[in-house]
Amino acid sequence: MPDLNSEAILAAVASREEATISFLQDLLRAPSVNPWFGDPAEISAEEKVQDVFEARFRDLDADVIDRWEPQADELAHRADGPGYYPGRDFTGRPNVVAVFKGSAPTGKAVMIQGHCDVVQVGSHWTEDPFGGERKEGKIFGRGAVDMKGGMAAAVGAIEALRDAGVTLREDLIVASVADEEAGGMGTLSLVDRGYRAPGGAIVPEATNLNIAPLCRGILWGRVTLHGRAGHIELERKPWREGGAVDAIDYGHRLLDAIRERNAQWANDPLKNHQYLPIPCQIYVAQLDAGEFPTTYAASCTLTFNAQYLPVQKDANGLGSIVKHELEELFGGFVTGDDWFDEHPPTVEWLVDADCGETPDSEPVVTATLAAARQVGLSSELQGCMSHTDMGLQIDDGTPTINFGPGHMGVAHQADEHVLETDLLAATKVMALTIAELCGAEASSTGSHH
Ligand SMILES: [Zn+2]
Repeated sequence: MPDLNSEAILAAVASREEATISFLQDLLRAPSVNPWFGDPAEISAEEKVQDVFEARFRDLDADVIDRWEPQADELAHRADGPGYYPGRDFTGRPNVVAVFKGSAPTGKAVMIQGHCDVVQVGSHWTEDPFGGERKEGKIFGRGAVDMKGGMAAAVGAIEALRDAGVTLREDLIVASVADEEAGGMGTLSLVDRGYRAPGGAIVPEATNLNIAPLCRGILWGRVTLHGRAGHIELERKPWREGGAVDAIDYGHRLLDAIRERNAQWANDPLKNHQYLPIPCQIYVAQLDAGEFPTTYAASCTLTFNAQYLPVQKDANGLGSIVKHELEELFGGFVTGDDWFDEHPPTVEWLVDADCGETPDSEPVVTATLAAARQVGLSSELQGCMSHTDMGLQIDDGTPTINFGPGHMGVAHQADEHVLETDLLAATKVMALTIAELCGAEASSTGSHH
């Protein structure tokens, strides 16, 4: 790409910085709490914010605007894969896609794909979570980081390319999907509708301006260890004679076994990745056991979070290999115990959020990294430790990365905010990257329309 072009693009991004910020404020002022989070006072679903996106896509003269409410029934043929939740209701929760047709497309369409829903507000805010307030170089609001900031940067980048008179050769698709924060069915519907970008996709999750060609899979599960209640202060009879069995004692031993397994995982190549600073682990997040101070616990339930890497994805794109590994751990940490053998643990799986990885050599990886360096950022390749919607895209033939402004540590928290400087930097990187991946030509007049 000629330098003149880059300079014109960067100048256009800078000169419309205020417009990008005010678009982010518009997005933040359209509450889009995912209904899964359930506080009726907050429920607004995704419709209002999708109206804001759609109006902007119309202003940009998108060639196609596609708006639809996903239908769970129509996605049932994907029930064995990631992102499918039977019966999920998308009333008032549309996906919106804009397509900007390229001047000479060769089938290497490029996509920006983000989610428009946000998590519940929660407590301890000192700013209005839906006010889009701007103070001291920060913009506050639920979703500022996750991920309305990233989507505002993407739209600002497209507008800057237009201002700079750049013509794109390949098709550019911009998708704003519903329901990422509770599973990813909006993205499943997008993929199922045939939207694919062999030229590469950017999911603008907050990566602190790093380039994330990887995300981890996340399993949530609940294991219940079974005992038998009985008076805790009395001498205990053998269980075959009706004696009590202490489920908390099993729980204690399972916690030890998990700690031991985590020490093994810390050194296991299958549980580590060069782009992640931490290994996959099994973390117990909730403990629940016992009823009274006088009684042995009849059951002990541990709710856990365990992570997995793409190398351990199963043929359906999910985490059954690691589930099986954990089930063996839960069934095998006690030996030579008849009660345990006859009353084995019960395992319930709550969530399996898939993972994905794009090779470093893909243009979407190299172009985004080069653009970040070109604008003076010290961005690196670094995986997302949490799940994002990238896996569904990758498995469908779209090389996908995550790249966006802000730090995930600020997402889902009170006073979520993004720095204006990060927003501007992300907009510059996205504009250069889209120009590179789509193949940009300066139009002869340097203006549009
Ligand atoms: Zn997100």
